Amino acid sequence: MPDPVADLVAGVRARSRAHVARAITLVESSRPDHREQARELLATLAPDTGRSVRVGISGIPGAGKSTFIDALGTRLVERGHRVAVVAVDPSSSRTGGSVLGDRTRMAQLTASEDAFVRPSPSGSHLGGVARATRESMLVLEAAGFDVVLVETVGVGQSEVAVAEMVDTFLMLALARGGDQLQGIKRGILEMADVIAVNKADGPHESDAWVAARELSGAMRLMNPDPRARRTPVLTCSAHTGAGLDEVWQAVLDHRAWLEEQGSLESRRREQQTSWMWAMVDAELRDGVRRSPSVRAVLTEVQEGVADGTVSAVDAAQQVLEAFFADRARGADAVTDDAG
Ligand code: GDP
Repeated sequence: MPDPVADLVAGVRARSRAHVARAITLVESSRPDHREQARELLATLAPDTGRSVRVGISGIPGAGKSTFIDALGTRLVERGHRVAVVAVDPSSSRTGGSVLGDRTRMAQLTASEDAFVRPSPSGSHLGGVARATRESMLVLEAAGFDVVLVETVGVGQSEVAVAEMVDTFLMLALARGGDQLQGIKRGILEMADVIAVNKADGPHESDAWVAARELSGAMRLMNPDPRARRTPVLTCSAHTGAGLDEVWQAVLDHRAWLEEQGSLESRRREQQTSWMWAMVDAELRDGVRRSPSVRAVLTEVQEGVADGTVSAVDAAQQVLEAFFADRARGADAVTDDAG
């Protein structure tokens, strides 16, 4: 029987799109046998990963993320880059027609031979979605994509997950009649390495300039230390292409700055550590949910918590006891088999 993982490894290294797509489907799966194969795949591909420019792109719905990625990605491809786009959107579902999952949004880039656009893996649990996206990024790097753009929705915790897998975090903002900071959470602003006010075109071009100036001032107030790196705030138009080169240059400048400080490597090392913990958390969570003993008690326990007859603390204890009892039985079974 041919070794499925060896076939995927060879195909990914040979840059076969079909193999890349299958490898990503494999790393997205949470089935235990698939996880085992995915681990083997990623371990084998590891030496071929890590060489891309990893950029997170965030912004509220409507900020123009997909238009921007389509335009920027196409420019980069024209200059000889190979561009991959992945996404983290825990609310998406393949059947639900999620915003990030809609492939028609990046029509130009999707049609390009030198680009690979992958919608967000489905799932409501951020940890699982982030893991799958991160592992997809590694597969894409091994397939020779030298720019990986990680798109995310501008709400909630997804930004944190994306910031933990990229080198540079780019935020797309919009000018909104003197109210620019509304809708942008302070925490997200603090995470941004580069900010671009999009839609700087037509009658609203000057609004975008004003917004950029004000955002720049707000960033300075947030970090008044004159020695600190200033987060550049630029304007651009994904429609006309104006400012896109400058935004990309700001991304490369940020990366060069990280490298000068020796921070690129330490950033990635820290990301590895937090990724390890994220995986421990995710595996435990999955394990608990799969455990037959947990399943046997879960409905009753949850109903008890809901109607107030069982405290959350007691319920958690019951679930964990059921889980560990299963684990202990599992270990016994293995010992029995071996004996
Ligand atoms: P996303 O939700 O952040 O992915 O935003 P989209 O890329 O779907 O864009 C939302 C809307 O803004 C669409 O109607 C786009 O055509 C429009 N849009 C995107 N970029 C620009 C831009 O640079 N200028 C103008 N005027 N409209 C834009």
